[in-house]
Amino acid sequence: MIQINGIHKSFGSNHVLRGVDLQVQQGEVVVILGPSGSGKSTLLRCINYLETYDKGSVVIEGKPIGRIPAQGQAGQSVEMPQKDLNAVRQDVGMVFQSFNLFPHKSVLHNITMAPISLRGMSQEDAEQLARELLRKVGLQDKAEARPSSLSGGQKQRVAIARALAMKPKVMLFDEPTSALDPETVGEVLQVMRTLAKEGMTMVIVTHEMGFARDVADRVVVMDGGVIIEEGKPSEIFTKPSHPRTQMFLSQVL
Ligand code: ATP
Ligand code: MG
Repeated sequence: MIQINGIHKSFGSNHVLRGVDLQVQQGEVVVILGPSGSGKSTLLRCINYLETYDKGSVVIEGKPIGRIPAQGQAGQSVEMPQKDLNAVRQDVGMVFQSFNLFPHKSVLHNITMAPISLRGMSQEDAEQLARELLRKVGLQDKAEARPSSLSGGQKQRVAIARALAMKPKVMLFDEPTSALDPETVGEVLQVMRTLAKEGMTMVIVTHEMGFARDVADRVVVMDGGVIIEEGKPSEIFTKPSHPRTQMFLSQVL
């Protein structure tokens, strides 16, 4: 489903990703853990090429994204045309810590914009889909509301509905609950649990260890720009093998 091969990324002299390989299967839920600055967000952003990378490749359902992999050993990968990039990107939904909703447009309008302009959906179909998705995230009565009148947890649920409206094949989450008041964290995690149960392929950066333990099929631990360890949550949380995983978990658990 997602194949990340040998990704390297530097910001100036800061070599942030140092050869990351990660395969995600269809329907799999992968949680990425690791200390601050280990490259989790950068990796996630490389998956949909919101961040360019210097070396390596990302392939989503057989389609390269961002760069077209080199043919043969000596070849250089090349940047793909913007129009092709936009097409593959539509398969990848992303939810950030900050919700990035348009404050002056209604919740419904926020959700229908992309399907209408990028997927060519009719206004009517887009609105019907948006209302279905609002029901799914428990906000059916908020279609006409402005985002500014919503709580953080509600805004984040709208952001998830907006991403789902593009019918993505995979959803990426970068600390979706970190900016929320504690009392609204649970409602967002609940929506994510439901998505996971329905078989959505998900890659999630989170510090919610209880959620990771319950929902992840696999936990991937990053440190210093590489994956230092991965495995089932039961393995990683009870007997982490890498000393730096042990240290990280002792700080967060
Ligand atoms: P956190 O848990 O704090 O979110 P992270 O694991 O997501 O951390 P990244 O945000 O990927 O870490 O950052 C990894 C490194 O890359 C850090 O040293 C950071 O300063 C650097 N970095 C990230 N984005 C940029 C950027 N746009 N320009 C320059 N440096 C960046
Ligand atoms: Mg981050």
